[in-house]
Order: sequence, then structure tokens, then C-alpha cells
Amino acid sequence: MSIDFSLSPELERIRGEVRDFIEGEVQPAEARIREGDLENTDRDAYIGELIALRNKAQSVGLWLPHMPEEWGGMGLGHVELAMVQAEAAKSYYGPWVLNCQAPDEGNMHTLLHWGTDEQKEKYLKGLCAGSTWSCFAMTEPEVAGSDPTLIRTNAYEDGEEWVINGHKWFISNAHRASFAIVVARTEDDPDLPQAANTAFIVDIPTEGWTEVRQIETMHGSTGHSEILIEDLRVHESQMLGGRGQGHLLGQYRLGPARLAHCMRWIAQAETALDMMVDRSLERYSHGSILAEKQGVQWMIADSAMELYQGKLMVLHAAYKIDAGEDFKSEVSMAKHFVANMLNRVIDRAIQVHGALGYSTDTPLAHMYQHARWARFADGADEIHQMRIAQRTIATYKDHGSTRAATGDLPI
Ligand SMILES: Cc1cc2nc3c(=O)[nH]c(=O)nc-3n(C[C@H](O)[C@H](O)[C@H](O)COP(=O)(O)OP(=O)(O)OC[C@H]3O[C@@H](n4cnc5c(N)ncnc54)[C@H](O)[C@@H]3O)c2cc1C
Repeated sequence: MSIDFSLSPELERIRGEVRDFIEGEVQPAEARIREGDLENTDRDAYIGELIALRNKAQSVGLWLPHMPEEWGGMGLGHVELAMVQAEAAKSYYGPWVLNCQAPDEGNMHTLLHWGTDEQKEKYLKGLCAGSTWSCFAMTEPEVAGSDPTLIRTNAYEDGEEWVINGHKWFISNAHRASFAIVVARTEDDPDLPQAANTAFIVDIPTEGWTEVRQIETMHGSTGHSEILIEDLRVHESQMLGGRGQGHLLGQYRLGPARLAHCMRWIAQAETALDMMVDRSLERYSHGSILAEKQGVQWMIADSAMELYQGKLMVLHAAYKIDAGEDFKSEVSMAKHFVANMLNRVIDRAIQVHGALGYSTDTPLAHMYQHARWARFADGADEIHQMRIAQRTIATYKDHGSTRAATGDLPI
């Protein structure tokens, strides 16, 4: 086995192109948008600027890094994708400009793997072209999202159609999506509790689909919708995957999608650390700059070590996905660690900036508000810890050692 962390010249080139594009085109546009008050800015001009950037990204081949070339993508593996996502997410809009943003990115993977040819033609093509948006509707206000076996939204068969009723919330992108992947209970008495749900593709807007509101969150009202589903009819050909396979499909979707979040969070944490160091080099107090204070150095050192750990975990989990090995524990560990590391690093960066960090004059406050959801969405911390512990205990029972449960690394 060879361990080599260097990039091939071809990948160095791609990474350089993504970095130049983000720094040269996307970040300046983002700064212009941030400077203006969005309420008062001409919204069409703002959207026009972002769409022009998307078109440019597509024309220079920085488009769909996660998709195969036959779908217009860059055909990268997960390790390579980590590098591109970590560059793209140095800008808030970067992943969107490259068309690798959540939840469309995860939905593209899902359609590619589970969709029929007709479904791919009808739904995947538009997502890849960047002409449509999608959402994934699983979570419900009435039951714990952590346990999808509790899902109450149900679907019953009526001739060639399925009739869906239920209540969903926190459905990202639903406000602008042209279709939703809806997970509903179809089986009353399944052999396994995990075999009760089925996924359906629903064109939206449609009769029976009501967007109640975009939920106001701690980072504003930014496109996470509450949805009421009442006697919504879909043809049986809209079933995605098999009957009873909704849970499996959700798990399949979430593995790589969780890691893609981590790749973007790495970029955000690195931005925060850069800002922390930059500020510490220019702020002067009690006879020296902050960078010379031991208390500040500890924050910098802890952040650097944690960022390094996070990068290694993400790269290794990505390597396991690419190698076709079981990656569940590594992705769980990476997701848990990186989500918490992100929150800690941004918090320290705010601390070093003092009142400025608390203001909205820097991106830190905005990043902090966004980062909080990372600890429970796509699997709460405690759920990942529960699964990691279960696998570690099982590994010990099977092999008399926990070694294989800690990444199965050669040390
Ligand atoms: C910004 C944002 C975007 C989202 N986008 C989507 C989307 O597009 N589509 C979608 O379907 N959902 C989406 N969600 C929902 C998200 O997936 C859920 O919040 C998540 O699955 C947790 O479910 P819950 O909120 O119902 O929390 P619950 O399941 O009620 O859990 C609450 C807390 O209880 C604890 N807990 C729960 N179970 C256990 C356990 N077994 N052991 C120990 N502790 C436990 C954990 O601390 C957990 O944080 C989004 C959420 C946010 C915040």
C-alpha cells in the first residue's frame, strides 16, 4: 500500500483553476453583494450577476465536479472532489456557482444511482444543466427526524397512482425547486422497520402540495420550507427506487452528501483560521500584538491542529468511498468531528476579533449562524456517536480488537 498525499499535475491544475476562479470572480461578486443591503439592492441585478458566474463556470469546465463526464461533469472521485469543494466553499456562493451545492448535489447522486432512464432524462438532465432545482423531503415536525422509521407521511396505492398525505418541514430549496424527492410510509407491517418507507418524485408546484412558510431560522428566512401534503397524486412511474427502499435510498444519499458538507466546512474553518491569524497580527494590546499573546496562540494552535485532523479524516473517508470499501464509520466520524471543529474554530475567530467579530462587518457572524445546524442536520452528533460506538463494540467482539473501527489504518 502506498500513501501519497501529493496531487498529480492534472489535479494541481484543476485545483489552481478552481482557486483562481473563486478568488478572481466569485469572491469579488460576493463582496459587492454583501456591501449592498439585499433588501434594497436590485434583486434582478444580483441574481443576474450570480447566473453570469454560473454560465462562466460551465463554459470553462468548472461545473458539476461530482458528476461523471457523460452527464457534463468533471468526473472526479471523492478524494479529488474534496479538493474542489474545499476551494469552492471559500466563497458562500462558490458551490452554487459550480453547481455542486446541497441539496441538488445529493439528489443528483441519488437519481444517477436509483433513477430509471426516464427519470434521469426528465429530472437529472435539468439539474445537471443548472436549469432546475430540487429538494429532498424527509423530516417532519411531529416526529424525531433522527429516526426515519417514525415517518408519518403516508402513501397508498389507488390504481396506477399513489396518494400522499403528510407534513414536512425544513425542506431546503423547496421554495424554488421544480421537483421534490418525498419519503413516505407505504408499508404497514414491514419485515424490518427500515423497510416501511418509499421515495417518490413529485413535480412541484402541484395540487396537494402547499408551502406553508419559509421557516425563520437563526440565520434568517433562507429557503427551508414547511410543506403540507394533502391527497397529492403521483403516477406509479414516479416511484424512485423500489417499494420499501426509501430508508435505504436516504442512507445511500446521505453518505457522500455528508462528506461533501464536511469538505465545504473545511473551507469555512480555514477561512475563519486565516481571519483569526490575520487579526492577531494587526491588533495591539498591552505592549504587543495579539499573535504574541499565549492565550491567543493557544486558540490558533488548537484550531490548526483540529483543522489538520478534520482534513485527514475527510480525505481518508473519501479514499474509502473511492476504493469501494465500507465507509460508514469513517464518514460518521468525519461528519461529527468536522461539524464540531467548524463551530469551535469560528467561535475562536470571533473571540480574537472581539466586538468586530460579533458585528456583521465581517463574514464571521454569518458563518457562525450557519455552522450551528451542522451539529444536528444530516445526523445529530449523538446519532453518529451511537453508531460509531455500536460499530466499535461489534468490531471488538468480532476481532478482539478495536483497530478496524478506528479507520483500519496501517498503524
Ligand atoms: C438548515 C437545515 C436544513 C435542513 N434541510 C433538510 C432537508 O432539506 N430535508 C429534510 O428532510 N430535512 C432537512 N433538515 C432536517 C434535519 O435533517 C433534521 O433536523 C435532523 O434529521 C434531526 O431531526 P430533528 O430536527 O427532528 O431532531 P430530533 O430527531 O428531534 O433530535 C433532537 C435532538 O435529540 C437528540 N437525539 C435524537 N435522537 C437521539 C438518540 N437516539 N440518542 C441520543 N440523542 C438523540 C439529539 O441531540 C438531537 O439533536 C434540515 C435541518 C436544518 C436545520
